[in-house]
Amino acid sequence: MTIDDKNIISFCSNDYLGFASHPKLKQAAIAGIKRYGVGSGSAHLVNGHTAAHHQLEEALAEFTGYPRALLFSTGYMANMGLCQALLEKTDSVYEDRLNHASLIDGGLLSGARFQRYLHNDINNLELKLSKAQSDGQQTQKLVLSDGVFSMDGDIVRLPALSSLCKKTQSWLMIDDAHGFGTLGKTGKGTLQHYSLPNDAVPVYMATLGKAMGTAGAFIAGSDELIETLIQQARTYIYTTAMPAAIAEATLCSLSLLQNETEHLQNLNNNIAYFKSCKQQAGLTIEESQTAIQPLLIGDDKKAISISQQLFDQGFLVTAIRPPTVPEGTARLRITLSANHLKEHIEQLIETLLPLLKNNN
Ligand SMILES: *Cc1c(COP(=O)(O)O)cnc(C)c1O
Repeated sequence: MTIDDKNIISFCSNDYLGFASHPKLKQAAIAGIKRYGVGSGSAHLVNGHTAAHHQLEEALAEFTGYPRALLFSTGYMANMGLCQALLEKTDSVYEDRLNHASLIDGGLLSGARFQRYLHNDINNLELKLSKAQSDGQQTQKLVLSDGVFSMDGDIVRLPALSSLCKKTQSWLMIDDAHGFGTLGKTGKGTLQHYSLPNDAVPVYMATLGKAMGTAGAFIAGSDELIETLIQQARTYIYTTAMPAAIAEATLCSLSLLQNETEHLQNLNNNIAYFKSCKQQAGLTIEESQTAIQPLLIGDDKKAISISQQLFDQGFLVTAIRPPTVPEGTARLRITLSANHLKEHIEQLIETLLPLLKNNN
């Protein structure tokens, strides 16, 4: 990035595959603008839905293996819309404590009975579900979880979570904002990471503004689910469709992901290299296997100070503090990209080491 005429190496973007600035994506977006104009002009159900949107929905359904997919203008809106469409006041929603804010807000605003369970703790969820059962509640249950947790980079324990949901006849929705495009052999996400079939996750959601390098989001699932969302999800119905050029660019991202495997390979190499450099430098390596590699600092002021000093030396790594993360766990949320060079990673660690020591 260039900030105030200074060249900065960014280690905090979610553009994991470097697609946001890929020449082919830019070209696809420009071609899309030439064909469709800049704005979509209205909501999908009025006349904002173009052939490009339609093609993208079909391509996303095919790539993820679900019968259908539906576009939303942002991931935040997809999550709000889903909760509102599926839940009544008498239903219950269960959320991992560390879920993304949009899932939390969606659950809260749905008006359903809201419960949080301990992070990635399937036994704790089971306890809460069975308590509802013994209370004689005969209502719908929806379980919501991030696929890759956005501030820690760890992966949901999906096999156990999915069997519990099946056993208790609960709906399961996975928000794969950080897994889609990055996890699994061909980037299909958290399901592919665990080699699970699609019916393990009846509601699959992912965003397009991260690994796909564009903007927007989609929900994939059964025909019945998608028809319900089209009829009921207010954040789908009452908002302007994403620009068609963004849909065109996202079609290009999907094609790059499938035809140019080096991007995902580079990302995976960079994750491995970062971890090995950290280990060599004597730093504790996090359990995270993903592009999100948090460096836990603890104290808010210290995290800000290190972030500022990194910036002065040419690296952008934002400090993440409460309430985004729990009290006392302020951190530098380092993210890796396919576009980082080995030198960038080496220099980041070299620059970090004395800062971590001096700020102790
Ligand atoms: C980024 C993110 C969202 C929100 O997506 P936007 O398209 O940016 O609104 C939702 N869930 C998770 C887990 C995210 O990381």
